[in-house]
Amino acid sequence: MSELHADTLAVRAGTWRSALNEHSEALFLTSSFVFRNAAQAAARFSGAESGPIYARFSNPSVSMFEERLAALEGAERCVAFASGMAAILATVMGLMRAGEHIVASRSIFGSTVQLFQNILGRFGVTTTFVSPTDPEEWRAALRPETRLCFVESPSNPLTEVSDIRALADIAHARGAWLAVDNCFCTPALQQPLQLGADIVIHSATKYLDGQGRVLGGAVLGRKDLLEGVFTFLRTAGPCLSAFNAWVLLKGLETLALRMRAHSTHALALAGWLEEQPAVTRVFYPGLSSHPQHALAMAQQKTGGGIVAFEVAGGREAAWRVIDACRLLSITANLGDTRSTITHPASTTHSRMTAEQRAIAGISDGLIRIAVGLEAVEDLQTDLARGLSINW
Ligand SMILES: *Cc1c(COP(=O)(O)O)cnc(C)c1O
Repeated sequence: MSELHADTLAVRAGTWRSALNEHSEALFLTSSFVFRNAAQAAARFSGAESGPIYARFSNPSVSMFEERLAALEGAERCVAFASGMAAILATVMGLMRAGEHIVASRSIFGSTVQLFQNILGRFGVTTTFVSPTDPEEWRAALRPETRLCFVESPSNPLTEVSDIRALADIAHARGAWLAVDNCFCTPALQQPLQLGADIVIHSATKYLDGQGRVLGGAVLGRKDLLEGVFTFLRTAGPCLSAFNAWVLLKGLETLALRMRAHSTHALALAGWLEEQPAVTRVFYPGLSSHPQHALAMAQQKTGGGIVAFEVAGGREAAWRVIDACRLLSITANLGDTRSTITHPASTTHSRMTAEQRAIAGISDGLIRIAVGLEAVEDLQTDLARGLSINW
């Protein structure tokens, strides 16, 4: 199916039919599968015959989601997980061993920092955190035992953009792999594997579902790299449920349309925020004022749906803007049809020390908005209330 366009693949790839030949994708709500005879059971277990065995590691609804997402990322293989964090854990457990080392961007999802630093550290896998925007820091941090480089682009919440091709070259020159958490862009806007990355990771909870309904995750890449990741899933069991896979499969059908709309709305809101006197700075890759605007536009189709901005007056002023909202939801989730507003310093990034936040640029006046699909004018009215109090 790979000769078809992405819009076609999003609605047609990875559709399996049951014996009833239904038009929509079948939902297989079963924990295990029945074999025709003992020989078939043996063939399935040995791998001589492909087909589902037990839902911890094989379910047709999950396989459909994996196939469709792989088609959109241009990946040989996709393995689905219960959540984005399970996908990240499985990547490390599948590809690394004690004594090895990770080089990761400093600006990655808070739970990923905790996982790398505090949990993996207990098992002898160490991590060095470096700047998302300075490839030279990556080059200097790589050691002979470095197996994995890990980045998110654009980052959360400051939308820093990393040069994926440059980081892939740096990793490969030293025998390491580059994994990209592609949560913010999705394959509709950015395909890291085509830019040289080895692994793509998703929190499907966000834009892939796109409607705030389910948790899910995925790891994509070459077949040989994914084998260990799949073995971890099969053995340890952080599997995606069939129902969640079915929801996500339908989410992928509207992904490109939604990402286009999120981006258009976010660009309009970011431009408007730049004009507000109470706003001291706006972070959005689609704005020409963004420090990596040119790189972002070369690497991504559009700026995506996440906008961050700083208000004068620190935490008190930021909380006032948030508390004056009647429409935007105060929640840390993102990638929903509904716009959400967050104060990173006291929520998503509160487990960092004040010093770590300062280094990462997460100020007390910083607000993040994940722009949804509402009319931009209504979002502006909602934000103007709190911004005018400040001023
Ligand atoms: C939410 C998120 C994750 C974790 O995903 P879950 O599905 O919540 O486990 C990982 N990376 C990024 C960038 C995220 O936004």
